[in-house]
Amino acid sequence: MKTLNIVLLGAPGVGKGTYAEILSKKYKIPHVSTGQMFRDAIKERSELGKKVESFITKGDLVPDDITIDVIKERLKEEDCKKGFLLDGFPRTIPQAEALEKMRKISKVLNFVASEENIIERLSGRRTCKKCGAIFHVKNIPPKVEGICDECGGELYQREDETPEAIKVRMKEYNRKTKPLVDFYKKRGLLVNIDANYPFEEIEKIVSQCEMALKK
Ligand code: AMP
Repeated sequence: MKTLNIVLLGAPGVGKGTYAEILSKKYKIPHVSTGQMFRDAIKERSELGKKVESFITKGDLVPDDITIDVIKERLKEEDCKKGFLLDGFPRTIPQAEALEKMRKISKVLNFVASEENIIERLSGRRTCKKCGAIFHVKNIPPKVEGICDECGGELYQREDETPEAIKVRMKEYNRKTKPLVDFYKKRGLLVNIDANYPFEEIEKIVSQCEMALKK
């Protein structure tokens, strides 16, 4: 099977993590989320965790040099040899330039949804403290309230999903990450995915991704 080195782009809350999980199972390639790696590091109270905590809590981006080092190490691991789904990286032009030097990208899926949908998805989102699985109070409710279906861990609302932090994250996205749409368009790698479907119709979003990855 061909190598699939995929970048998932899109505003915070558009559902990249959920689509990445589904695609990761379908294509048997790892879901690599820098946000999750940082949250794990904070939980473990590692050196990396201490360095990044204040940026993440406020909704600011972590500096490029730290983020690029983290991805460089992760992509060297055995499970990334056949491909990967990058969720949340790159988020700036310097990160995208660094990534080009590490691996050849096969395709960039750019998830597009209205601001109204995005805010509704973000504010209802709940994340598992133990395994990072994502739920939504209305759209993807867990079987037992507050408990993860996958591992039984406790669900919580991320600190950066308060209305203030969401505002900062959207501003950061518009200023620093949106220019990546043009960056990848120029390289002929970008495919727009319409993500304006309710969760019950998630297959419509996933099938657009599959079509894009076939080409
Ligand atoms: P996410 O889970 O992708 O929404 O990421 C959560 C937070 O982690 C972001 O709001 C940033 O503070 C930080 N973060 C994740 N990925 C990156 C990245 N590529 N560059 C800078 N900061 C990042």
